[in-house]
Amino acid sequence: MPLEKKGQPMGKYKYDVVIVGGGPAGLSAGIKLVEKGFKTLLIERGRFCGAKNLFGGIIYTSSIKEIVPEFPEVDNFPAERPVTEEGYFFISKDGVVKILHTKRDPKESYTALRAKFDAFLSDYAIKKGLDIAVKTRVLDLIWEANKVCGVIVDRPTSLEDKTPASIEAKVVVLAEGVNRVLTERAGLVDRTVEPSEVVLAVKEVLQLPKGEMEARLGLGENRGLAIELMGEVTLGLPGTGFLYTNKNTLSFGVGIFLNKLMDLNLKPYEILERAKALSYLRELFNGAETLEYGAHLIPEWGIKAFPKLFGNGVLVVGDAAGLVNPLFREGTNLAIYSGLMASEAIKFAFEKGDFTEKALKRYEELFKESYIYKDMLMIKDLKAILLSNSQLFQVYPELMYQICHLYFSAQGRAKRDVIREILAIIRRKRGLLGLVRDFLKLGRILW
Ligand SMILES: Cc1cc2nc3c(=O)[nH]c(=O)nc-3n(C[C@H](O)[C@H](O)[C@H](O)COP(=O)(O)OP(=O)(O)OC[C@H]3O[C@@H](n4cnc5c(N)ncnc54)[C@H](O)[C@@H]3O)c2cc1C
Repeated sequence: MPLEKKGQPMGKYKYDVVIVGGGPAGLSAGIKLVEKGFKTLLIERGRFCGAKNLFGGIIYTSSIKEIVPEFPEVDNFPAERPVTEEGYFFISKDGVVKILHTKRDPKESYTALRAKFDAFLSDYAIKKGLDIAVKTRVLDLIWEANKVCGVIVDRPTSLEDKTPASIEAKVVVLAEGVNRVLTERAGLVDRTVEPSEVVLAVKEVLQLPKGEMEARLGLGENRGLAIELMGEVTLGLPGTGFLYTNKNTLSFGVGIFLNKLMDLNLKPYEILERAKALSYLRELFNGAETLEYGAHLIPEWGIKAFPKLFGNGVLVVGDAAGLVNPLFREGTNLAIYSGLMASEAIKFAFEKGDFTEKALKRYEELFKESYIYKDMLMIKDLKAILLSNSQLFQVYPELMYQICHLYFSAQGRAKRDVIREILAIIRRKRGLLGLVRDFLKLGRILW
């Protein structure tokens, strides 16, 4: 399907399955569907798959192997560096406290850049037999009675017939990402997303002079860092920052709940600039050149506000469904697994010759059997806890810095006095009772 120019006629097509969106969810559903023998078309509005996409980020070997079994022994796979060191940096105005875990066998995750990663997956999928139409936006769904039976796109049907082209399909998979417009049109959710249900993340790709990234972060060749940043980096607002090392560049970004940014009338680039002015980051990025800048939403509505995952002739996967686990930084892998489960459910529907909810419910059944469902249930109260406990982002990173600063310095006075001072700081900043309550709240999420 060579559609080089925007607005070029589409023609009339009939497919077994049409997928809307060429991110990891849509592409993995596509790969699995063509492997199962279904005639499948994926429609992506960007110039190429990945052109409009942005993430931190880390990709996980376990999920990649499900769609590219030969990984990592595969030509041109765009993994940047294996993640050999992972952890948290608690950033205060004056400095940083680092918790770093060095991995013995670092083969389970890699840093990556989405434009390259999605483009690789799309080439891989095309070789498997997936039809991909890029530079094409799905405008709406086609309905027959109460069943979705295709999509309407922003291309004319032919040179003579300028009406938007329609493509028929037995099943439509909505892999449209966080802006779930078609998911709403499909009636799978009855309201638009609230600002308190999404995090706005801004990200830069930065390049330091040759050898400086490795020197400043103490990295050897083929070793990579994946760090969550907490505290002043988000101005003490609910959210986190991130720092990942690519082959020759750094991915740095900050994500904050959108409602908080709106309340304070903060612009994305302001947050990033303020964060980069903090002493630790200022030194780290000194002399760096910004190669890319972008912003993207992360769905954090959680399982309590999930859309219905299936309807007559339609399924929703990945971010459009809200499949993100912010506590464990998982998103791409959940998108991939949901694509796999959708393809299984579609196979089941074809076997039954039934494309209504009755057969497509199989997708929800598979989802409920998966670890993802258990994890999403586990973190069901996370958003509420994060939004209503600002001390987690304001008080603790600062407290940790002050405690470490006192503990790790010889000040020519008795250590008992130093410990007394530490306890006094804890009492003043949060109180011992507050401390216990916060740990219990966080603990409740994990067990
Ligand atoms: C800043 C940031 C950091 C992150 N870090 C990580 C990380 O480190 N690790 C991790 O695993 N996850 C991370 N995530 C989450 C991860 O990126 C997402 O969960 C994942 O990409 C979701 O995949 P998806 O295919 O569902 O959606 P997307 O990747 O958003 O893809 C949706 C696609 O649909 C297309 N589309 C939308 N509407 C239409 C339409 N009407 N017609 C045609 N095409 C359309 C879009 O152009 C896009 O290509 C991060 C996210 C962000 C924003």
